[in-house]
Amino acid sequence: MPATFAVPPPPIPSVPVAGGGRFPVHRIYCIGRNYAAHAREMGMDPGREPPFFFMKPADAVVDSGADVPYPPMTANLHHEIELVVAIARGGSSISEADALGHVLGYGVGIDLTRRDLQSQAREAGRPWDVAKGFDHSAPCTAIHPQARAVDRGAIWLKVNGQERQRSDISQMIWSVPEQIAVLSRYFMLQAGDLIFTGTPEGVGPLARGDRVAGGVEGLDEIQLSIV
Ligand code: MN
Repeated sequence: MPATFAVPPPPIPSVPVAGGGRFPVHRIYCIGRNYAAHAREMGMDPGREPPFFFMKPADAVVDSGADVPYPPMTANLHHEIELVVAIARGGSSISEADALGHVLGYGVGIDLTRRDLQSQAREAGRPWDVAKGFDHSAPCTAIHPQARAVDRGAIWLKVNGQERQRSDISQMIWSVPEQIAVLSRYFMLQAGDLIFTGTPEGVGPLARGDRVAGGVEGLDEIQLSIV
């Protein structure tokens, strides 16, 4: 006999899988300052400090192609194009050598950020949740299942046809296996987890009416409109 819920259970958030079906999203982990040039543009020293993580709610995902409402409570919404890793098999304290065996595949996401609220939180020593974990803050393409590592290849983002971000996955400070190894020491990873792997330099503001496109070489292109 199924449990009786006091209110209707919320739908399971998901992103498409290339080739068919959908990937049910359990958690969204994000890594901060994983490209040296972006750390510098944020006023930070890109030394090889241990990676740090924050989270977005699972239901912040939005399919590529969607209209994204300009969020409330900000006057400085920023784009951050990122490689996204989809976890197929959970675990804790996963070794770097085993890490890619836990991956279903890869997609392309945008870590939408209320930059003004993030700056205020940084200065006040407060959490980043309102800056990073708002509704519709995690647009993501289809996940491409593949065993091959994504450790190089162009990553880019354009706003209204003008290039804003361009770098290469090889410029990551912490590789995908390193991120999985460290993250899985803090959390029990589960099938359905997404990892947003950090953004390169060139982050900047978005306005209502902007058309955003971005990609990672060999994966899908993400597109969305800010409305
Ligand atoms: Mn980010």
